[in-house]
Amino acid sequence: LGPTVCVGEILVEIVAATPGAGFLEAQPLVGPFASGAPAIFISQCGRLGGSAALVGCVGADDFGRLNLDRLARDGVDTSAIRIDPDYPTGSAFVRYRLDGERDFVFNLATSAAARFGWDDATGALLARAGHLHVMGTALAMASAWEVIDRAVPLVKARGGSVSFDPNLRKELLNDPEVLPRFSRMVAQCDLLLPSGDELLMAAGTDSGDRAVAALFDLGIGEIALKQGAAGATVYAAGAAPVSAPAFCVQELDPTGAGDCFGGAYVTCRRLGMGIAEALTYACAAGARNVTVRGPMEGAGTRAELDAFIAATERRA
Ligand code: ADP
Repeated sequence: LGPTVCVGEILVEIVAATPGAGFLEAQPLVGPFASGAPAIFISQCGRLGGSAALVGCVGADDFGRLNLDRLARDGVDTSAIRIDPDYPTGSAFVRYRLDGERDFVFNLATSAAARFGWDDATGALLARAGHLHVMGTALAMASAWEVIDRAVPLVKARGGSVSFDPNLRKELLNDPEVLPRFSRMVAQCDLLLPSGDELLMAAGTDSGDRAVAALFDLGIGEIALKQGAAGATVYAAGAAPVSAPAFCVQELDPTGAGDCFGGAYVTCRRLGMGIAEALTYACAAGARNVTVRGPMEGAGTRAELDAFIAATERRA
């Protein structure tokens, strides 16, 4: 039916190599790595052999080239990625606290990352899109939201589907536009990929069972609930829930697990796999990605995920 399209920020990530170290003094950094939740998601789609495209913007600099090269290598259609000559590519500097929490220094709003909108290339891409995936970060980004709000009815009108990964980081909730847009996406999506908290928030209840039922009533067909190191569960309307345990891995860098999980789940379902098989690949994609430093350096191809699944134990 046409490619899976994602819309949003493209950036490089530069990481403090020493856990616990801050940015107040000079210290070893690693990177730059290609990043941005939509870029991680769509790279995972492309690596698995799904037809995939990204709408966004980079600067005319090495950081932009790094992202474009990486996306192209992963088979992602970059025809609707703008190159802005006047703004630098977006960036994020990340440090890890000793408890595993992360702090970011972002350059997004004043970078090329936000400098796109509905142009001819975007219109041409979305006119042939088969699936639109929406990330929570887009809810706080006027440029991404403008494109998504136009794209949802267009994709649906041609028989395409929509998925939504809320990924509601606490900073996002300071923006008064975010919650109304969140509700709008919950009401419009076919597949929701929430964490436990986001599931309850989407349904406006504090009971997990009631939340799933309420979301089915809204017309959502499938809910892929991400449970971190506990694995994941898919609820499909009219069927028994399907759970998958997490794979046992040594976590080196948690960034991007949820995005790889989503990219793999959406792609495997679109390639015709059943829920259980798609969920196994999604858990493998999330787990494999956390074993490698860099937000999307561990995103696997089909062969890499098959090898990972064969070689890795699952939690009891
Ligand atoms: P998010 O990044 O959106 O918070 P999760 O942390 O739940 O998402 O990760 C998504 C999926 O990736 C999980 O459901 C799990 O299958 C896998 N995953 C993430 N972290 C780990 C881990 N430390 N060990 C094994 N699997 C993991």
